[in-house]
Amino acid sequence: MTSLERLCQERGLSMSRQRRLIIRVLSEARTHLSAADLHQRVTELDPDISLATIYRTLTIFEEEGVLKRLDFGDRKMRYEQADKEPHDHLLDTTDGSVVEFQAPEVAALLATIAARLGYRLDGYRLDVFASPDDSRAESARACVTAVQPPAKRPRSRHHHHDGREHSAPGR
Ligand SMILES: [Zn+2]
Repeated sequence: MTSLERLCQERGLSMSRQRRLIIRVLSEARTHLSAADLHQRVTELDPDISLATIYRTLTIFEEEGVLKRLDFGDRKMRYEQADKEPHDHLLDTTDGSVVEFQAPEVAALLATIAARLGYRLDGYRLDVFASPDDSRAESARACVTAVQPPAKRPRSRHHHHDGREHSAPGR
């Protein structure tokens, strides 16, 4: 059982064949799929599943806390598992792919800023928009790849985790 299936079970969701298929594709994807991406992959397995069904199912999964919806403002909602380790996202503005990262120094900086304003940091959300710097990025990307299992699709630079908002320690 994948962790996504287990999460559905924990939330008491009934699992139709279509839902199972959608969960399977999401589990195997290792990236932040949009509804259209998901629909394309699901219909390779079952051509009868409509985009409307995909949308309806994603909405239910989101409401039940199984999936989290990511909005990078590019009119393409992406989804990822809701209960993973906190991390931030970098959107590749050239191809719309998403890279995940963790940057504890950002939390430290934001805590300092909050303190300056008289607040204690409870959490934050960070989306970075960037394009590949080919003179620098190869070694950094090789590094990221080494930590993650290789993606099934060879061209993919996406990495899978998820996107809970960060919580500051000792909240
Ligand atoms: Zn993510």
